[in-house]
Amino acid sequence: MCGIVAYIGQREAYPIVLKGLKRLEYRGYDSAGVALVNGDLKVYKKKGKVAELEEFLSGKDVHSHIAIGHTRWATHGEPSDRNSHPHTSGNGKLAMIHNGIIENYAQLKQELIKKGHVFKSDTDTEVLLHFIEEIQESNKCGLEEALRIALKRVVGAYVIVLVDEDNPDTLIAARKGSPLVIGVGKGEHFLASDASPIVEYTKEVVYVNDYEIAVIKADELILKNISNERQTPYIQKLDIELAAIEKGGFDHFMLKEIFEQPQTIFDSLRGRLDAKKGTLTLGGIREHAEILSQAKRIIIVACGTSWHAGLVAEYMIEELCRIPVEVEYASEFRYRNPVVGEGDVIIAVSQSGETADTLVAIESAKKKGAIILGVCNVVGSSIARISDAGAYTHAGPEIGVASTKAFTAQLAVLCLIGLKVAMEKGSITQQRFQHLLDELDSVSEKVALTLKLNDQIKAIADKYKDARDFLYLGRGYNFPVALEGALKLKEISYIHAEGYPAAEMKHGPIALVDEHLPVVFVATKDSYYEKVVSNIQEIKARKGKVIAVVTEGDVTIPGMADDVIEVPEADELVAPIVSVIPLQLLAYHIGVLKGFDVDKPRNLAKSVTVE
Ligand code: GLU
Repeated sequence: MCGIVAYIGQREAYPIVLKGLKRLEYRGYDSAGVALVNGDLKVYKKKGKVAELEEFLSGKDVHSHIAIGHTRWATHGEPSDRNSHPHTSGNGKLAMIHNGIIENYAQLKQELIKKGHVFKSDTDTEVLLHFIEEIQESNKCGLEEALRIALKRVVGAYVIVLVDEDNPDTLIAARKGSPLVIGVGKGEHFLASDASPIVEYTKEVVYVNDYEIAVIKADELILKNISNERQTPYIQKLDIELAAIEKGGFDHFMLKEIFEQPQTIFDSLRGRLDAKKGTLTLGGIREHAEILSQAKRIIIVACGTSWHAGLVAEYMIEELCRIPVEVEYASEFRYRNPVVGEGDVIIAVSQSGETADTLVAIESAKKKGAIILGVCNVVGSSIARISDAGAYTHAGPEIGVASTKAFTAQLAVLCLIGLKVAMEKGSITQQRFQHLLDELDSVSEKVALTLKLNDQIKAIADKYKDARDFLYLGRGYNFPVALEGALKLKEISYIHAEGYPAAEMKHGPIALVDEHLPVVFVATKDSYYEKVVSNIQEIKARKGKVIAVVTEGDVTIPGMADDVIEVPEADELVAPIVSVIPLQLLAYHIGVLKGFDVDKPRNLAKSVTVE
């Protein structure tokens, strides 16, 4: 969840680490800290955003050629100065940053307290560091050896980076379950939770694998597994550009990413879809297309926004492929001993490709014989690497914590997968296949037209921004869109919002409806349209305020709704890609009008690498 950055080399380390922390701040931002060695070990940390740490350090001597930095997303202990990372060992010589959770920390802590260790924080991280120190002292061994022994007893997920005052030419890092990238420069190394702090210095990176320990000097990178065997670092080339991780003139990353969608949707389809020729190529699943078409069942495993994309895919794949589809919350699926095995295909959907629950869910399903297909945005991510096959969404780095462009790219790619399997299986007519290819081909343009409604949507946001609750309703393919709209609003405006199937609303939420409740209907022209019109009437009869997203040219709903947002017509399978856009903008503007930091909403983090 948190962001980790470290540097070792000839340059001044602090400015590099500070800039890296700013780039990673979307991952966690309740506190920030750095440790450097400048004669002796110096640790500076502060509750709050990276800017507060920067201010705290202005004018201080931060000269060093080695530094580690951290932005925290608290799991153990409230956000506070003393719980911030880096943590220090009892003798004050070691500093450590950590991303993840040490599950058996309580037991380790008891053992260490009995041995006389005194703790300064409430974190699991500090316990691990003292445990390493204890082993170092009792076994009279070096830090690397002590770390290896410690990690064999640790239960949980981590990336850790250690710096030692007595060895200021070495960083030691280890990974299990959380991401770590090492940038390889000329006589220098950069460590980070993702590539964004590294890309402006070097394009050569090594993704550290689970249970690997890295010993890093300015001009040397040694990777070993937990049994102390040397591993050959696999150097890969990064394909992201710096511009992709900067705001490019927009007030917020979220707005920039909403406006990027015509391009990102196009990118997710590029090279895969050729509507003129009537062809669809998905290199990543080519070899598995037959297995997929013969699947007994498809289980889509995801969390949050990706879970909503999975719900759209459920409707789509069942309709096109006639294969039963289940959509599961990864956190439930992994713990409830599900019936899964050969003949099942699991589609894991995750923007970051590091979502801890999704990752573990697919690991156990894979062991039971299921085929795993990954739909991830981040190239080289853990989920992508353990999947048997898959398709990247190619939406580019998504920095805004509330997902937008990753969602629409997921919808586009899941639609391609559905079409590919349907074609392989023969469950779709050539005519319908071609029609859907044409629809996908034109969807970027329809999204671009929808974005022109930004000012109108901002005015609607202003009108309803003080509401206490919102209800979002839709049916069929638009039901998951309603869920996603409600989630966006909750995430960044802190207004309570519920998404519901429009008809199911009568079985409970209708009790909430009065003249103060805005109800957003996703009511584009599809097979459910007439039914949704009746649902709108039910809300109006109870004086609810209706904001309706409708298809251009609709003559019925504008007569009933308080506010109407007209989007271009699209086939109902593809329509969610268009109809979600106004809901993203509505949430964005309400969040901004209420004065919140929409790129870093409270309590959230971008890449949920803890379960
Ligand atoms: N579990 C650690 C803590 O609560 C690390 C959390 C993080 O990944 O930011 O401090």
